[in-house]
Amino acid sequence: MRAMSALHRAVPAVLAVASVVLAIASLHPSRSEEQRPLPAEASGANCQRAIFRVAVDVGHTVKVPGAMSARGTSEYAFNLDLGQSIAAALVDAGFTTTDLLITDQPPPFGLFVRANRANAMRADLFISIHHDSVPDNLIETWEYDGQQHGYNDHYPGYAIFISDDNINRAGSLSFGKFLGTALQARGLGYTPHYTLPIMGHRRRELVDADAGVYRYDALVVLRKARMPAVLLEAGSIVNRQEEPQLASPERRALMSAAVTAAVEDFCAARQHPKIEQPVKRRDIAGASAAAR
Ligand SMILES: [Zn+2]
Repeated sequence: MRAMSALHRAVPAVLAVASVVLAIASLHPSRSEEQRPLPAEASGANCQRAIFRVAVDVGHTVKVPGAMSARGTSEYAFNLDLGQSIAAALVDAGFTTTDLLITDQPPPFGLFVRANRANAMRADLFISIHHDSVPDNLIETWEYDGQQHGYNDHYPGYAIFISDDNINRAGSLSFGKFLGTALQARGLGYTPHYTLPIMGHRRRELVDADAGVYRYDALVVLRKARMPAVLLEAGSIVNRQEEPQLASPERRALMSAAVTAAVEDFCAARQHPKIEQPVKRRDIAGASAAAR
């Protein structure tokens, strides 16, 4: 997450390196053998999974890999492993148009590229996958495998972020709640530390204290995506206890199942008027006119 804060600085976008979008659907044909038939009542009459398009964004890039774990693994490596696991789980569950977004442009330009890709593919939902660290002043050092590494053992747990500047704030919050609920149903808790004064300018408003959904308006990927969008910090890789859990296939499977359950819930509830109708520009214009 730390490197995400760099996006707030206005830097001219001069780099134009091609990004890669992998259509995961075509990569896992054999998984359909394991797929359970979907019960009609559970799938949601309003949810057409095969055309409900989820963009799973792998946070950071190979060259600008985000935070460094307590044992020296890059955040990008964690994000890529989990993103691939989530995308595969979604395809298994019938969301066959799921796209895994892997970007090689660095921030800040690369952040716009991510949102633009999701917009171009007309995704119904955008999920950006990250792993958490803490501000530099909260990092302690230890020696692991003969090398010095940074760590902080105080704040394990996931965190979900939405932006009030997203075009569909209500939809983003709705999905955030489904996601937090699904993670907690699987025994995972969120970290409350973003509310603490010690976080300084990284302090965030906790908009849903049950599900663990925070507000972070400035996140470019959430602001620029023209569909409900959340950023998931899957857990703290600088936490020496949580890092090996996050690196395990078991935790990835658990989180992938939670994300899939949340997507199912969101897709099924999508026809509900409160979720289906995004904030329309006309409404915003009307509100502005009324305010004048
Ligand atoms: Zn990150």
